[in-house]
Amino acid sequence: MPSTANSIANNISEIKTLLKEIRYNSGQNEETVKLLAVSKGQSVEKMAAAWNAGICCFGENYLQEALAKMREINFEPEWHFIGPVQANKTRDIATHFSWVHTVDRLRIAKRLSAAREGLAPALNVCIQVNIDREASKSGVDPDNVEELAEQICELPGLRLRGLMIIPKARANPEARREPFRRARELLQRLKKRSPQLQCLDTLSMGMSGDLAAAVAEGATIVRIGTGIFGPRDYGKTP
Ligand SMILES: *Cc1c(COP(=O)(O)O)cnc(C)c1O
Repeated sequence: MPSTANSIANNISEIKTLLKEIRYNSGQNEETVKLLAVSKGQSVEKMAAAWNAGICCFGENYLQEALAKMREINFEPEWHFIGPVQANKTRDIATHFSWVHTVDRLRIAKRLSAAREGLAPALNVCIQVNIDREASKSGVDPDNVEELAEQICELPGLRLRGLMIIPKARANPEARREPFRRARELLQRLKKRSPQLQCLDTLSMGMSGDLAAAVAEGATIVRIGTGIFGPRDYGKTP
């Protein structure tokens, strides 16, 4: 079923209502959750519909696709890079995006920082954590997050904001909150570790299928693709 501008606007308003409800029910009333519209595999027409419905941030996984869209659209959203970062793409990613959610190696962080340095403001980054320690997944091991966080804090072109996770799917809804809870606890530990890390404020977690569990555990950015736009136009989803 194709998603028209109307159904995109409806999806967005339903998600926003759901976000409010969950935060209210779990006693988190102060701040709002940032709704990042994941637009990989979605047309610029659909992105315009989302923009017109109040979305201000888009997440893209593939640099070439994102650059083509940046040239094509006539509005100026905040761009978030959420795909694996290849070393030879760091310059373009650092100069065209405001956020990178998927930093998991110092070498990549250094390259992003060098490309961004001197351009104000610093690039917002999250450390991607392999929260379920899956062999096939990107992300740093939970045990190595503190070391990487301290190293990233030293890089002048970057502003470390927090953690990003993609947990493995869990069939049992009861079990779904557990990886998100561990990510929240990891961030809390990190914040206590040094004054530099005290101001970390971001948990990028929750996709179309596990949004509610992530927000109940304190997600500050949710990354929603199909839940806003409907199915993607191609199969290359990670
Ligand atoms: C594709 C993608 C999403 C969005 O997934 P949906 O299931 O379509 O909501 C979120 N985060 C990352 C890292 C992705 O690659």
